[in-house]
Amino acid sequence: MNSKEFRQIGKELIDKIADYFDQIEDYPVKSQVKPGEILGQIPSNAPVQGEEFPDIIMDFDNIIMPGMTHWQHPRFFAYFTANNSFPSLLGEMLTAALGAQCMIWETSPAAAELEEAMMNWLRDMIGLPKEFTGCIQDTASTATLVSILTARESRTNYHINHSGFGKQPTYRLYCSTEAHSSIEKAAKIAGIGRSNVVKIPVDSNFAMVTSELEYAIKTDINNGNVPLAVIAAFGTTSTTAIDPIDEIGEICRKYSVWLHVDAAFAGSALVLPEIRPLLKGMEYVDTFVFNPHKWMFTNFDCSAYFVRNKETLIRTFEIMPEYLKTGSDSVVNNYRDWGIQLGRRFRALKLWFVLRSFGVEGIQSRIREHIILAEELRKKIEEHSDFEIAAPSPFNLVCFRYKPHGIDDINELNELNESLHKKLNATGKIYLTHTKLNNLYTLRMVIGQTNVSREHVEFAWELICKMVKGI
Ligand SMILES: *Cc1c(COP(=O)(O)O)cnc(C)c1O
Repeated sequence: MNSKEFRQIGKELIDKIADYFDQIEDYPVKSQVKPGEILGQIPSNAPVQGEEFPDIIMDFDNIIMPGMTHWQHPRFFAYFTANNSFPSLLGEMLTAALGAQCMIWETSPAAAELEEAMMNWLRDMIGLPKEFTGCIQDTASTATLVSILTARESRTNYHINHSGFGKQPTYRLYCSTEAHSSIEKAAKIAGIGRSNVVKIPVDSNFAMVTSELEYAIKTDINNGNVPLAVIAAFGTTSTTAIDPIDEIGEICRKYSVWLHVDAAFAGSALVLPEIRPLLKGMEYVDTFVFNPHKWMFTNFDCSAYFVRNKETLIRTFEIMPEYLKTGSDSVVNNYRDWGIQLGRRFRALKLWFVLRSFGVEGIQSRIREHIILAEELRKKIEEHSDFEIAAPSPFNLVCFRYKPHGIDDINELNELNESLHKKLNATGKIYLTHTKLNNLYTLRMVIGQTNVSREHVEFAWELICKMVKGI
């Protein structure tokens, strides 16, 4: 393809993308294809001769699109949102065009310095203390792994990095029973072992019980194990529960335990001054992660990872082969040493586009609107005699279940809710996911898509009410 063809096809593609967003509500939110249906339509070998672009686009329409779930659909209420926005798309396009490897300052000074500036913007926007600095990681899973590795190395004076585990004691990690699966994965990768992740019980609000945490830490010390880190949640995945980070922090300080906060989804809500009081105890926190790629209108991947002490982070990850040494190493950030990857995408650009184009107020008003819509939905559910609210909703996730009068048997209720859930998703009109709370099948409705508005939430609630009549 030459630049003339690129110009023409590229313009058509932009129109196509704009049409997609204009017509997105006509698509079924959740793809309705069967396993293997897409694979069966893809030739088993790559084409020997190049093909014409219009043919490729035609196959995109006919083969790929039916197999897509539309995460940018305003009636996408599943999982947590993975939002994009037009400014973000434009930034991503330029990142792809520049195709720069942003591993060190010299490989693109603007990328390194814009990333530094964006992390400072984000830190101040969500009200983290000024001493925090950080970088963009691909995902919260990676950030949490990076945090655990840093905890491991700072605890052992960088011994494991250098010599391997050898005769190390058993290290222990702590998180609540509601914490994200990425913690167990990180424990596996970091050589801690998943059986050394201690799951601390939660209270009726699904937040960690700190007396149980302290008891677990003391028991481990008595047994000759080493408490390494606590991973506290600011917004769990099931219900957006908030662990008491201040109380956890005091325990961490008392026993010299590292504290990482996983705010992957809910961290974005900290742009709102009225939400800030929910985050107490940052003075105890070593590292903190949240994902602008979830609820800050910046397309995947973009995970903001903040650290109190960048020296321990860099000492954990730095590597200095001769071919990467440069004259500016002492005065600039070489983000290759701030995480796992060497090669890094220029992710700060799309973030810059988003933050400038929306402005802080634009982001605040949208997130605030999502929280208000969730409150409205919650009230409707509370008022309906055949439904019940299943968990507190401090942000924009409402957890609820169908509970018709007179049905109290757990299995019967679970079957009813599962069947309701399947029927709702099969309509293609809305998409919800579920969780289990105290063994009860629970529907989750996240109101956070970039373009979701009151009419979409009302439509969903009406559909749910209509659907229960038929199950
Ligand atoms: C989504 C989520 C994660 C994982 O995020 P990735 O960026 O996909 O790795 C981790 N923790 C919580 C609480 C989450 O909601």
